[in-house]
Amino acid sequence: GCVEHVASPASTDSRNIRPTLLVSRLYQPSNLRDLGKDTQGEMTCKSQRLMQQAGLIHPSNPGCYYYLPATVRSMEKLMRVIDQEMQGIGGQKLDMPSLCSADLWKSSERWDLMGKELLRLKDRHGADYCLAPTHEEAVTTLVAHQTTLSYRQFPLLLYQITRKFRDEPKPKFGLLRGREFYMKDMYSFDVSEEAAYQTYESVCHAYSRLFTRLGLRCVQVQADTGNIGGKLSHEFQLPADIGEDRLLVCGNCSFSANVETMSSDRTDCPQCKFGKLVESKGIEVGHTFYLGKKYSQVFNANFSNAQNKFSIAEMGCYGLGVTRILAAAIEVMSTEEGIRWPGLLAPYQVCVLPPKKGSKVDEVAGLAEELVHTLEETLPRLRGEVVFDDRTQMTIGKRLKDASRLGYPYVIVAGQGALEETPKFEVICQQTGDTVFLSKDGLLDLL
Ligand code: ATP
Ligand code: MG
Ligand code: MG
Ligand code: MG
Repeated sequence: GCVEHVASPASTDSRNIRPTLLVSRLYQPSNLRDLGKDTQGEMTCKSQRLMQQAGLIHPSNPGCYYYLPATVRSMEKLMRVIDQEMQGIGGQKLDMPSLCSADLWKSSERWDLMGKELLRLKDRHGADYCLAPTHEEAVTTLVAHQTTLSYRQFPLLLYQITRKFRDEPKPKFGLLRGREFYMKDMYSFDVSEEAAYQTYESVCHAYSRLFTRLGLRCVQVQADTGNIGGKLSHEFQLPADIGEDRLLVCGNCSFSANVETMSSDRTDCPQCKFGKLVESKGIEVGHTFYLGKKYSQVFNANFSNAQNKFSIAEMGCYGLGVTRILAAAIEVMSTEEGIRWPGLLAPYQVCVLPPKKGSKVDEVAGLAEELVHTLEETLPRLRGEVVFDDRTQMTIGKRLKDASRLGYPYVIVAGQGALEETPKFEVICQQTGDTVFLSKDGLLDLL
């Protein structure tokens, strides 16, 4: 990935070793001047507070944030995992314009249906546009423009990871509900309803794999199709008290649904007719829809079938809230004091702390810096992932507190133990809270 490296004065020697990421140089503005409540925004939930305090995000206007460098690193990692899963089932990545002509949205009738949530604007000629909240119209038009589309190209799965715009009535909870946010949206085109259901299944499986890899326990629930339309729909919900969705899960069978899908709020399971439904709250991190011909009919997205006749494509669409997943993971995994990340998403994997300048063990500072290079050179997956907390005017305790707040999975302290014949380092695994003392070799084994 693109990692900004800052040259360390200590590493400009002739060995041509990699420059070090120095904490003193990382742009993580946490102690921002008090600009008043309007600019700081209201702290509405844990993830927002922790992310703002650790210099990961900064509010600009309601529902819009600066994503600061550590957040961008984390998002790039998340996007890579999403790319792997989507491409693993045949998805091809593209990128569509955010500026969308009103004509498209009028054709699908969503120009009116979307109401105030659609951010509208006019260009210099007075033509109406919107900032796309989703891309069914755009992608279907694109596919419809290809006159030579053949059934041999199906299933066709196109996806993108882009900013989406929605004028939410109540933007809040930091990145959980923004007015400008990142979404992965995939659209599928199939020859028949049957084939479309198969594609639908394979996307749901890819979503489950994704959340498992991230270490997030999601529940897949039956969902309402809202103004996107279609017949079959599921949401991927991350159980959390601050979640805005109410879920009903049967204690006896596999039934689970968003309350929105139920005509009356019932307590007996409609599937097994025996179990009791238990209500809980969730954060919607993903949503899948079977669309049928709803959009392909309107935009005339057809292909030539095996009999060489034109046929209308069967569609599905599948969203993942990229920025929401990041904040939701922080929300459910963190403590009140510090961020805890899914291992795959931590902005940096390791932080190495040399002793305070002038302390009794000052002399081991060199060993600590050497360790950074050994880790990066020996373990390829740690390349560009190890930061060195060079703020040696600060006590270890103070710097540990910062490290705990940012949530590096591993924090390594060079202290007293590093003076031993075989130097030992204190290793704190922040996920588990465990502390162990390890030699360099032991450390390499652990990491
Ligand atoms: P919600 O019910 O939370 O408003 P939605 O049902 O309107 O979400 P979809 O249209 O299903 O959202 O969009 C796909 C995904 O995009 C959602 O599952 C969610 O993860 C994400 N998402 C939707 N709205 C936002 C938002 N305002 N901020 C961040 N992520 C969002
Ligand atoms: Mg919504
Ligand atoms: Mg929803
Ligand atoms: Mg939804």
